[in-house]
Order: sequence, then structure tokens, then C-alpha cells
Amino acid sequence: MKNPARSSFSAVAGVLALTLALALTANSGQAKGMPGDPDKLFAQLDTLLPTPGVTRAASGAPGAQYWQQRADYRIRVSLDEKRHRLTAKQSITYMNRSPDTLSYIWLQLDQNIFKDDSISRRSEVAANSGTRRDSVGSGDSLSFAAMRRHQAFEDREYGYEMGEVRDAAGRVLRTTVNDTMMRIDLPTPLRPGTSIEINFEWAANIVDEAAIGARGGYEYFPKNDTYQYFLAQWFPRLVAYTDYTGWQHKQFLGRGEFTLEFGDYDVELTVPADHVVASTGVLQNPAEVLTAQQRARLKQAETAKKPVFVVTPEEALANEKEGTSTTRTWRFKAENVRDFAWASSRKYIWDAMGYRQKDAQRPFVMAMSFYPNEGEPIWSKYSTHAVMHTMEVYSRFSFPYPYPVAISVNSWERGGMEYPMITFNGYRPTADEKSGKLTYSRNTKYGLIGVIIHEVGHIYFPMTVNSDERQWTWMDEGLNTFLEYIAELEWEQNFPTFGDKTNVLDFITDYMQSKDQVPIMTNSDTIVQFGPNAYSKPAAALSVLREAVMGRELFDHAFREYANRWKFKRPTPADFFRTMEDASGVDLDWFWRGWFYGTDHVDVAVGDIREYQVSTQDPDVEFPLKRKEFAADWPESYSQRLNRSEGRPTRVDRYPELKDFYNENDAFVATNKDRNEFKEFREKLRDWERTVLDRSIKAGEYVYFVDFRNLGGLVTPLPLTLTYADGSTEEYPIPAEIWRYNAVEVTKLFVRKKRLVSVELDRNHLIADADKTNNVTPRRIEQSRIELFKGRDRDRNQMLDALAELKGEPKSSEKTDAKDLPLQPAAK
Ligand SMILES: [Zn+2]
Repeated sequence: MKNPARSSFSAVAGVLALTLALALTANSGQAKGMPGDPDKLFAQLDTLLPTPGVTRAASGAPGAQYWQQRADYRIRVSLDEKRHRLTAKQSITYMNRSPDTLSYIWLQLDQNIFKDDSISRRSEVAANSGTRRDSVGSGDSLSFAAMRRHQAFEDREYGYEMGEVRDAAGRVLRTTVNDTMMRIDLPTPLRPGTSIEINFEWAANIVDEAAIGARGGYEYFPKNDTYQYFLAQWFPRLVAYTDYTGWQHKQFLGRGEFTLEFGDYDVELTVPADHVVASTGVLQNPAEVLTAQQRARLKQAETAKKPVFVVTPEEALANEKEGTSTTRTWRFKAENVRDFAWASSRKYIWDAMGYRQKDAQRPFVMAMSFYPNEGEPIWSKYSTHAVMHTMEVYSRFSFPYPYPVAISVNSWERGGMEYPMITFNGYRPTADEKSGKLTYSRNTKYGLIGVIIHEVGHIYFPMTVNSDERQWTWMDEGLNTFLEYIAELEWEQNFPTFGDKTNVLDFITDYMQSKDQVPIMTNSDTIVQFGPNAYSKPAAALSVLREAVMGRELFDHAFREYANRWKFKRPTPADFFRTMEDASGVDLDWFWRGWFYGTDHVDVAVGDIREYQVSTQDPDVEFPLKRKEFAADWPESYSQRLNRSEGRPTRVDRYPELKDFYNENDAFVATNKDRNEFKEFREKLRDWERTVLDRSIKAGEYVYFVDFRNLGGLVTPLPLTLTYADGSTEEYPIPAEIWRYNAVEVTKLFVRKKRLVSVELDRNHLIADADKTNNVTPRRIEQSRIELFKGRDRDRNQMLDALAELKGEPKSSEKTDAKDLPLQPAAK
């Protein structure tokens, strides 16, 4: 039988009569002491947010006296391929635009994280002693990769070898290194509005990325004994000095990313002469490093309808075969960037395609991809398209792509990393060991497209909207994952963004119910369950905000306002929270509180539904209905029925003279007194009251009281689907403010002319409700398939196993003849 719906609805199916009455109780004052602390859940965030001021306005916009520092860089660096080593000369011009006088400045020495005595390495716990993509897990266990990493650190010294730091006049400045930071004491304090130039030389060994796990390094290709280098956090950079925290003094522990200043870069990269270089910035000397043919192809790519090879797969294959001892210098300039990264290899295929956008300042951008033949055929097919697609979608939600180039480099196994104008991305096909045949998994295909969208998306957030990554991972990863998700669904309707799930809200519920959670508003380096906390949960939150709380029009306007207010500036969480409210006119403090400062999950159960029709109060109409109702509620007992079936006549049956008025008239027979009272009741009604009553009765209105219980704790809007007896449905979204008096249980009143048969919550999966089984009244039976399984005998039969044939040549220690084995335990 497959109709559970009716039977479990029986509790509400009977039509109850509802007597209209004067309201004697008001709703006011119920919040005091009510469960779920609604007064706290809906309280404004004022006490949690920094006080607005002249640098950051209460609206969430940069304040009238907003300021940020600036650092311009000139770097000449050489890549020594034999020793995997960089040596460089660097100068930085630091401009103090703050209102403060600085007696020292700090540099970030990120490569020092790889030193044996770094805080990061010394504070590693056993469970994270593997590489980034290979954490060891719980219990006493050690992976091959973790042991390889340990050995790689034994084999070489890492970290910066710093030369003397001098000012423009050549004076040596006093420096103090503290882990991944270095303080430079200034001979004269740097007053507001002034700048200082510092010059120094440095060298650093490049890490083997696969062995050590880093955001940059080199990759070895054993098949042709050559390398690619992708260099990130490779040079000393200014520590950010801000209006909200002064010098960002949180050391680089490996996870919390980078807090950086904008500036112009002029960088000369000296690499083996047969290398192709991909870099942040615009190439300044194409005539010196590119062939005439490559330059012609680049020109052709500007207006091409599909990506054009600047270096073809065949040319790259030929190029990677030889090596060279000569070098060539590529010079790049980049304006107004917060970082600089590059990649170099003789293995690169290079393709390019021009991207045009509606922007007077930057109507043209060159999208480019660099990858070894190992990435084919999927890299030439997808990479540059994914770069262009990202710019198309992200620009709609923020601003036109702000830089002249957008680059994707294939440099990782999986995963990716972002820098201004350039991104490093993973995923390659797999070559079969025997046949060499190339295949790739579904995960590789969508992983590749997804990671490129994600990393190129980071060029908007946080490379342009320069949030503080060292402190708040969600501000770049969360916002970016949200837009990545939108872009992926615009790439392909059913893009499998979240494992096997397309909807981030279906993906996030397991995490939100899990133990060991910390709020999204947690410092990057102390987040547990990093991925879901800083990536998917904020993306889910923004999705709820856009589709269920604000609606697309209000959300998109406010989000665009945030992006434009803070592009090339440094927003904090408060600036985001405030701007989203300021530009939409929606009070979202309850939302930030629940989703960003809390760890509750969404789970609302639809409870009982009680159905009524309004009573006429006419005894001749109502009493017969009451009789029916009474009979339904209090049926004849089982004993009474058995007594009747036994056929024994009662005394009253036997002596009919015992019957009187009450045997003829039950309690539901109307009397004249009842009728008089009814008349009196009608007469006493005011005209409008009589109209209300008669209209409701004439229309046959149904009145429903629907209970909702908040089991998850997070207050949420309730997008309802009401289904009527005639098969029609009504979408009825209830705003989260319904919980403002009582955040645990509420009852909603519906008056409808049609009979309701079910109420369903979140049919369209808009609010991340964790338990869908309690989302509908009447309840549905959950249907699925069950697989039978076989019990397995785990007993180790050593005698039988000894009879197995040995594969390959036996070593002397291996006994292969079962007869040699004692069949009885050896005698003592
Ligand atoms: Zn990211």
C-alpha cells in the first residue's frame, strides 16, 4: 500500500469549529526568558563589531580618512636550475600614508617557514606532519609522503640567506629576524607622507613541492629529466600596516595566507635560455625572449575566436628534450598589484585568447595558459576557456577584470593557488603504465575547470578586494567559493561542484551538524575542519542570503557595492556585514550572528497542523456537528460493543417504561434557551463583526494552525510549499523574523478558502535544512534500496597461505616449500 499520506494526516483531518473571540492577550513581552534567547539571536552586532570611525564608516564604506600603505618593488632574480636556487637583488620603496610615524618597518620572510627551527615546523602536531595534500590522520601512523618530507628537510637547508639591508644612501640598517618576519630599524623615523627606499640581496633554495608541500617550488619530470618552477612567496615582502591592527604580526604558519600592500613591480627574471616564462605583469622585452613567430601568434590570439597556440604541443615536446647552459632575462612590469608570482620551464605549451569587456580603462585582457604535455588533452581544451568564463561571470558580480593578463599555469597534482594576474592549478590526465593511453576521471575534468575558476576568481577576491587573509580565510575563500559555485553552474547546468552534489546547501549540512566546529569568525590558523568552515559554509551562507533571505536583486546590488567600495582597498568583516545591510536595507545582524559567529545548524521540523472552520454559533447548525465530532473522538468502547454482540438485553430494553426525556434527547439537542442565546448573540454583534462572521461562513473558510519547531538552533527563514486538496500549490516564504519572540517553537496561522493537505518546508533546498525527513506534515515514508551483504571469514589460515605460489625469484630467506614448515608447534 503506497499512500501513507492520508493516514498520518488523520490527526488534523477532522474539521474543528473555531469560535471567533476577542483577542485578550497581546504578543508583547513574550520574549523575556523564552527558550532560544531570541533577544540575543536578534540583537544587533554592535557589541561584536569594531566601532566605526574616520577610516571605516558605519555604512561599511571606506571612511573619509581611509588610508593604506604602499610598497613598490624592483627585483633582479636568477634561477639556478642545477642547484634549484634563487639569487636576487631587491629594492623596495615604502610609502607611509598612515597618520603614524614609524621607527621600524617589518618584512615578511615567508621562505623561513621551511627552516628547521620555524614556529610552523616546531609546532606541527603528529597528525599534520604530512604534506598539505596528505595529512596523516589520527592515531600513530606515518605515511610514505610524511617520511619523504622529513627526509627532504634533512637533505637541504631552506629559508632566506639575507644580505645587509641598506637605505638609498648606502647606510646599513639594523635588522632583527623573528621567524618569518624581519624588523628593519630606521635611522630616522618615517613620518606620515614620506617614503624610504631599502636595498638588499638574498638567496634561497627552492623546495621540491611534491616532497615538502608548499604553495610554490619545483616539480621534477623523471621521464625527460627536467623541471618546472613555480615561484610564490619567493621574495621578501612588506608586512601590512593597517588602521585596524598596526603591523600584521601574525607569523606565517603555513595556512593563514597573506596580508599585503599594493604597489608597482619591475622584475627581471633570468632563467635558462630555453625556458618559457609565465608571470604577473606585462612582458617588457618580447623581442628579446620570444621568436617572431611567437609574437605573431600572440597578435593573432588577440582577436581569435578560440585559444591560439603561442607554443604548440609539438614545439614544447621538442624544446624539453635539450637543455642549455645559457640564460635569458625576461622583464615584467606590473602596476597596482599586491604580490608577484611566476613560473618557468622548457616544457610549457602556451596558448592565448583575447578577452573583451565593457570597460573604458581596460577594454582588452589576454587570457593565457601554460602547461606541459602531461596536461594534455584537457589543458588546451579547458584552461583558457575557464579563465575567460571566470572573468565573464565574476565581473557581473563585482567589477571589470582589473589587469591586462589572466593566466592559468598547470603546476600541481591537484588544488591551486592564486596571485595577481597568475594562478597555479592542478589536475592532469593519467597515463596507463603499460599502454601509455591517456584517460581522465570525471573528478579530474571538473576538478580542473573548477580549480581554474576558483583561482582566477581569487584575482578579484582577495587580489583586488584585498581582505586580510592571514586573519580571515572566509573573506576571500568563502566569497570566492560562492562566486565559483555560481560560475560553475553557468559553465554547465549540473556541474558537480561539491563532490557528487551540485547544491552547496545539500553539501554543507553534514558539516554543520558535526562536532568540533568553530564559528566562521575564527582566525585562519586555528580553524578546525578548514575546508567546510572557511570555504563551503560561508558560500552556503551567501547562497541562503541570496536565494532565501534577500532575493537576487537586493543581494546582487549589495554584493557589487561591497566589491566596488573595497576594490584595491582592505575590507574587514565588519565592512562586509555593514555594506550588505547598508546597500540592501535588510537587517542581517541575526544572520551574521547565526551563520558567522555561531555553530548551530538549520533544522526546523514542521509539526502538527490543526484545521478549523469558523462556527456559526447557531445551535441548530453546530449541535449536530458537535455530536458527530463527539462520536468521532469518543467512539463506543470495545466492552460496549462486546456486550451488544452477546445480545443480553439491558434493563431499559426489558422495561421500556423506564425511558424518559433523556432517552429521547442526547446532549446535542438544541433547546429554546440555546436558540434565544444565539439570537441575543447575533443582536449584540456590531455590524462589522456580523459581516466578518457571515463572510467567513459563506466562503467556507478553513483556518489552520501550523506548528514549527527549531531543532537545529539557527534561526532561518521558512520557505513553505502549501499543497491543497485540489492539487494546487502555493509558495509561502516566511522571513526569519518569525523567530524573534520565541526561537524554539512558533505557530503560524493560515486562513484559506481551499482545504490544505500538506505543508512542506524547503522543498527547493534553499536554507541548508539538515534533516529533510521532518520537513513535511503529513510525514512521508523514506524510500530507498537495501543491499544484502555476505559475512566474511577473517581467519588467517597460515597452512593454506603457505601453499600459495611465490611470485618472482625467491630470495634465500624465503621458504617456498610448504613441507619445510612445521605442521605442529615447535617443541620447547
Ligand atoms: Zn582559494
